[in-house]
Amino acid sequence: MDISYILNELGEDRSQYFNAVSPPIVQTSNFVFDSFEELRNAFANEESTFVYSRGKNPTIDILSKKLAALDGAEDALVFNSGASAIYCSVMANVKSGDHIISIKKPYSWATRLFDNVLTRFGIETTYVDGTNIQNFKDAVRPETRIIYLETPNTLTYEIQDLEAVSKLAKSLNIITIVDNSYCTPIYQKPHDFGIDLSLQSGTKYLGGHSDVLAGVLTGSRKMLKKIFNEQLLNTGSGISPFNAWLILRGLRTLPMRLEHISKSTIKVIEYLKKHPKIERVLFPFDENFPQIELAHKQMKGACGLFTIVINATSHHQIERFTYSLKHFLVAVSWGGHESLILPQAGGIAPEEFDPTIELHRMARIYIGFEDPDYLIKDLEQALEVL
Ligand SMILES: *Cc1c(COP(=O)(O)O)cnc(C)c1O
Repeated sequence: MDISYILNELGEDRSQYFNAVSPPIVQTSNFVFDSFEELRNAFANEESTFVYSRGKNPTIDILSKKLAALDGAEDALVFNSGASAIYCSVMANVKSGDHIISIKKPYSWATRLFDNVLTRFGIETTYVDGTNIQNFKDAVRPETRIIYLETPNTLTYEIQDLEAVSKLAKSLNIITIVDNSYCTPIYQKPHDFGIDLSLQSGTKYLGGHSDVLAGVLTGSRKMLKKIFNEQLLNTGSGISPFNAWLILRGLRTLPMRLEHISKSTIKVIEYLKKHPKIERVLFPFDENFPQIELAHKQMKGACGLFTIVINATSHHQIERFTYSLKHFLVAVSWGGHESLILPQAGGIAPEEFDPTIELHRMARIYIGFEDPDYLIKDLEQALEVL
């Protein structure tokens, strides 16, 4: 399906809403039934009927059609955050006594689900280094139900071979889930490699303006029906019509935003790599990235987020550098219009800072919509102060 069709036309039927060009925000909690027969039918098929906006809603429906098509999947569910997409996709597929294999250090709230919630129900998680397929093979147990992936991750960008992992999982009847937030379907389509469930934080690139939270989950109709009925409706974690509309609006410009950010990212990285105060830059499409070949095999692009290792000897130096920047905000998240920086040292007490630990000198940078030369000038003056 053509991406221009998906982003500009698919799912939209203007005759349903006064020929308005922009789809309406159908801000209603409930829907009316004209006969008992309609009512009966609606109760039996809540995943395909407008009954109550905790489930299906017309604005959300337009969005989920586009998101499914973008991922080349049968269906999509849209949640009120990426965290709820993680929670519901995992919870729907485990029972007490099951085992999960996860890559090391997945997104923090996935870790908390595995370590703090699921352990109370006798579900164990084994964390593996996902850069080697053998580690997954070694971790498999008869009761393994899920392999949980995130490729690349959002600090050091290790990637997993999606094709190899899904082949292994299929042969053992294990469900694969991947967090695709870094790439979005524009740069990586996990279902093409046989992955069962692909999720994203829509808060990042899909929304794209730092003003909305959302989560997306795509997969087969059958699997998503189960997750919808068992988890989304139960936890009430579907997106609101207004937030769905903001994501729809964000989607219109997704490819051009990523294209712009990709070009700017390369320019900024090229500058930083040559700077004596930067020890190295971690970025999955950099020629020195250890898994560059695999990155090119399964990703069409990479942009925005990368990590620098700063040549600093003290906590104070990194703090001074960070707050000398005038156009990079110190904040979590990413994917919006504004450039960001998040140094690891910010989460470490000054007395615990150890410059011999590379992690302590890392800072994650996100490149927004600003002109790259504007950002480079800013980095230059801040590195001077460092
Ligand atoms: C932000 C993020 C999430 C969680 O998404 P929310 O919308 O914040 O709940 C999950 N995975 C990754 C990689 C993220 O960056």
